Amino acid sequence: MDYISTRGSAPALDFAGVTLAGLASDGGLYLPRAWPRLSPDEIAALAGLPYAELAARIMQPFVGESLSPARLRELTVAAYGRFAHTAVTPLRQLDAQHWLLELFHGPTLAFKDVALQLLGLLFEEFLGRSEEHLTIVGATSGDTGSAAIDAVAGRARVDIFMLHPKGRVSDVQRRQMTTVLAPNVHNIAIAGTFDDAQAMVKRMFGDPALTSRFAIGAVNSINWARLMAQVVYYFAAALQLGAPHRPIAFSVPTGNFGDVFAGYVAARMGLPVERLIVATNVNDILHRALSTGDYSQGQVTPTAAPSMDIQVSSNFERLLFDVGGRDGKALAAQMAGFEASRAMLLTNAQREGAAALFASARAEPGDMTRAIGWAWQQCGELIDPHSAIGLHAARAAGIDRAVPVVTLATAHPAKFPEAVERATGQRPALPLRVGDLFEREERCTDLPCDYAAIADYIAARASPRH
Ligand SMILES: *Cc1c(COP(=O)(O)O)cnc(C)c1O
Repeated sequence: MDYISTRGSAPALDFAGVTLAGLASDGGLYLPRAWPRLSPDEIAALAGLPYAELAARIMQPFVGESLSPARLRELTVAAYGRFAHTAVTPLRQLDAQHWLLELFHGPTLAFKDVALQLLGLLFEEFLGRSEEHLTIVGATSGDTGSAAIDAVAGRARVDIFMLHPKGRVSDVQRRQMTTVLAPNVHNIAIAGTFDDAQAMVKRMFGDPALTSRFAIGAVNSINWARLMAQVVYYFAAALQLGAPHRPIAFSVPTGNFGDVFAGYVAARMGLPVERLIVATNVNDILHRALSTGDYSQGQVTPTAAPSMDIQVSSNFERLLFDVGGRDGKALAAQMAGFEASRAMLLTNAQREGAAALFASARAEPGDMTRAIGWAWQQCGELIDPHSAIGLHAARAAGIDRAVPVVTLATAHPAKFPEAVERATGQRPALPLRVGDLFEREERCTDLPCDYAAIADYIAARASPRH
């Protein structure tokens, strides 16, 4: 399998290449040149497999020659062995139509672990072969940072520099990052928003002062390997609910459009997906883009669901490329226009292609609180604010009653205890595996929202490529 850039001019790479590269050198994102397809019989044959085995089967066509099937299976067994639930991503039934897919049983309590536990192992595998050193730079609205740090802390050949917007992540999220004291982990709090942090990180990939000396790698969902690992749980859930013999709808709390794009990939592979519901909070650029074709950046409003407080969704570019005819030159021009004016209109092909599978909804703060309350009072489940936004959108979407609707529960409620307690009167307890988070020492550097200051800080501490 080889991978091409959405902007048409970066070289094609194999799976090992895209895993280490992150962003393409032309500023685009990598996608497989063609989608592997599974027939209904092939999908039916996957029913009942243990999660790690299912993961290896779904991912093998994307990994191609980069790993043998036996080695890939060893890595998935190791990655998913650290989850606190043996089903890895268990399903819970809420009512006659609605289900929760619990993606938060990994070490840092959010769905990011599902992909990043594997990505940490893939980095080690591929870097060991080339004897290179990787400098990971990342921006986090909270959960990517802790999951990535857990996945690479103490590993040889990797340094990680993680930028978070100071004061805009929850206490649990911050401590899960800053209490990891391994020498290869560098936390940076910037005086700005998540979008500012993400823009800095994107700029580093194109900065010759950094890329000439360091191999810069990505753990954000611009990294294809992350999305690939997330495709698996769409299959796992749908198989349990009767796929390939009946279609399933999914509602996905969305920020950077990575998780829901993995659902799109599952559909392109042949999984019968009735609809993908993109759930946003008041930071609703994706809801506006999907419902009116207007992709224009607004101001970020901080909310109780900080991992969705995003106004530029990197992975949306992958969808625009795929449904818009896979024309890299045209998309490069469209994205250059967006980067100059912070606004663009979708083409008719992009709008119609997206509308065939996607729906969207915007949840107000009250909708989120009511959804947390409903899940607790009607179903006895405590859910976090992000999952609640997904559940609100799922219940509002008007999906045919015969179709099961699965809401992705993206974080453990104990990551956001204040919002859950306000809505239910119950304070969710941190699971024991997280331990004494509030007693541990923190380490973090504050930097201004200034590209040169951040780039200099990293250059002074990172290890050169060789
Ligand atoms: C990252 C995150 C999201 C958003 O996922 P994307 O892939 O960026 O769309 C939603 N909920 C939680 C809890 C997250 O950590």
